[in-house]
Amino acid sequence: MLNGPDNLLELRDFSLTLKRKKTPLPLLKGLSFSLRPGESMAIVGESGCGKTLTARSIMKLYDERSFEVSGGQILFKGRDILGLSEAELRGLRGKQMAMIFQEPMTALNPVFTIGDQIEEALSLHLDMGKKESLMRAVELLEQVGIPEAEYRIHSYPHELSGGMRQRAMIAMAISCNPTLLIADEPTTALDVTVQAQIMELLERLREEIGMALILVTHDLGIVWSVAERVIIMYAGYIVENSPVNDLFKDPLHPYTQGLLRSIPQQDVYKWKDKGRRRLDPIPGNVPAMDQLGPGCPFRPRCPKEMKVCKEILPPLTGVNGSDLREVRCHLYP
Ligand code: SF4
Repeated sequence: MLNGPDNLLELRDFSLTLKRKKTPLPLLKGLSFSLRPGESMAIVGESGCGKTLTARSIMKLYDERSFEVSGGQILFKGRDILGLSEAELRGLRGKQMAMIFQEPMTALNPVFTIGDQIEEALSLHLDMGKKESLMRAVELLEQVGIPEAEYRIHSYPHELSGGMRQRAMIAMAISCNPTLLIADEPTTALDVTVQAQIMELLERLREEIGMALILVTHDLGIVWSVAERVIIMYAGYIVENSPVNDLFKDPLHPYTQGLLRSIPQQDVYKWKDKGRRRLDPIPGNVPAMDQLGPGCPFRPRCPKEMKVCKEILPPLTGVNGSDLREVRCHLYP
C-alpha cells in the first residue's frame, strides 16, 4: 500500500465486526489500501468475501445497529470519515463520493421522473435553480448516452430498460462531479453486450471527470479494461493487491490463480495459461465467516497447502520489498 498525503482514500488497518449477543463476528479484517486521485481500482472476490461491505464502509453506509468498527481508519482527503457526523457525511456523499448499485431501482425512486431525481441532487448539493438544473440534467443524460435526453428526462424509472436505468443512475451519481465513484456490481443484472457498454461508459466518464473509481465485482473478467489496480478479497481479508497487468500476467495467490482459471474468455487475457479453454472452477465454497479455523482461510480449497498454512495466518506482505504488489500467502515469505 502506498502511504502519503497524495492519496485520495486510505484504509489503514480497518476492521468491521458484526454485533452479536454472545461473540461479535469479525467480517472485515485489517484492510489497508490506498487510492490516488483519478485512479481506478477493482475489488474482486466471490459472494460473502466482504467486498460490498468494504465499499459501503468507505461511504459509512453500513448499519451501525448491526456493525461496529473494531479498529483502523478510513481517510478520505486526509479526514477520517469514521469520526464524521451524519450531517458531515451527507455533505460528502453525492457531492464528493457517490455510489452506484447492481440494481438501479434500489437507488432510483419509482414515483419520481429521472429528471426530478437528478435535479434534486443538483439543487441539494450545488444549490442550482430550477432552469439551470433542468438543463444540466439533460446534459448529464446525454453524457451517459441516453438518446432523446430532453424527452427521457420526463420518464419514470420503470419506463426505461435495465441498461438505460443503469445509465440514469450513473448520471445521478456523477451529477456533482464526485472525486470518487464506487460502482458495486454495476453490470451483474445486465446482458453481456450492455455490460460492456456500461464498463466503457464508466471508463470514459472517469477520464472526462477525472474521478477515481472503485469497481466492486465478483467477475475478474471485467476488470481488465477498467481497473489499474486490483484487490482480491477472501473471507474478509485482502489476499492480493496488485497492478492489473501484473495480476493477469503473473497472479501470485492461489485464490487469484483459481479465479483466473475460472474466467470463460481466457483468450483476452495475458496470463501465462492463456491458451487453455477448459473452465476450471475453484473447488468448494467460501467458508461462512463463523466457520473459519486457524491459519490461512483459503486452506480448505488450496491446492498448494503446506503444514504451516494450518497453523499460522499469513500476513499481507510486499513482494520483493515492493509497496505495489502485496500477497497474503506462505508461499511468498
Ligand atoms: Fe495456500 Fe498456504 Fe498460501 Fe493459504 S498460505 S493460499 S493454504 S499456500
